[in-house]
Amino acid sequence: RAHESHANGVCYYTEGMNNRVLERLTLERDLRMALSRDEFSLYFQPQFSSVENRIVGAEALLRWQHPQRGLLRPPEFISVAEETGLIVPLGEWIIGAACAEAARWRRDGHGAIAVAVNVSPAEVRRGGIPAVVRAALDRSGLPAHLLELELTETLMIDSSESVLSVMRELKNMGVKVALDDFGTGYSSLSYLRRFPVDTVKIDQSFVHTVVTQAEDASIVRSVIAMAHELGVEVIAEGVETPEQAAFLRRHHCDVLQGYLLGEPMVADAFRHQLDQPVHPLLQHFPHEPTHA
Ligand code: C2E
Ligand code: MG
Ligand code: MG
Ligand code: MG
Repeated sequence: RAHESHANGVCYYTEGMNNRVLERLTLERDLRMALSRDEFSLYFQPQFSSVENRIVGAEALLRWQHPQRGLLRPPEFISVAEETGLIVPLGEWIIGAACAEAARWRRDGHGAIAVAVNVSPAEVRRGGIPAVVRAALDRSGLPAHLLELELTETLMIDSSESVLSVMRELKNMGVKVALDDFGTGYSSLSYLRRFPVDTVKIDQSFVHTVVTQAEDASIVRSVIAMAHELGVEVIAEGVETPEQAAFLRRHHCDVLQGYLLGEPMVADAFRHQLDQPVHPLLQHFPHEPTHA
């Protein structure tokens, strides 16, 4: 505990540091108990096909109902989970829960609705992902092609050989692989050739400025065109306005995701969305041409 009597610059700095260390230790302690206390849940955000005009999938997004701090989003705790190795049991829970929920959509008769799951670089590097996925698919009965794992570019820069072999194993199982946050890293385009990627997710930072900045508009257009030439599907994330959606549909972006189409929601609410015959937001862009 810092002493009031030593309230000079040095002491303040130390006090701040101690607080940060303490905060981090507390978070780590809480994280260790969170799984067994059932404090994690998955939210689901709709992914909307601009070709078929319907929901074709959802991204599973982790939430932590912290007993004191309320509902926490991954940026507030995922790095601690990664550094402590807690990401391994947590990741196993996430993949299992996502597959179980997607299998339920299928049992409810909604057809082929896919689920996308974020996987940390730390999870992939520690290995075991293919086995975890296999077990989750077997347990849930979800067909492999309805599971998509979202990996980030950073992963591919750091450890391409081992990552490549994990991706091949997943591909052999029939699981899909998406490149998340596309465009935020380096030499992104070459990854599409080197790695067996099914989908790229154009990062929100490009999507947000697509109708206001000419450069971002041309980047998005060329990413879509190039991905399609390589047989890769394109998802735009962070779609917030009808203008952004219109631009993306006009340039043949396959799938739209963002607050405009639906925020991340609890499992019950997403199931309710699936029950709607027509997506309520279709009214925003009813006259846009779809794929030619
Ligand atoms: P991400 O995979 O790029 O996910 C997209 C993030 O953008 C999500 O934040 C989502 O809630 C938010 N988002 C969606 N639509 C919009 C929009 O229209 N506008 C804006 N401004 N934001 C939007 P979230 O849920 O806080 O997740 C943040 C990041 O945490 C994710 O980025 C992902 O990298 C990571 N993450 C989330 N769930 C998991 C998980 O289960 N496992 C792991 N390892 N990482 C996860
Ligand atoms: Mg993601
Ligand atoms: Mg991400
Ligand atoms: Mg992203």
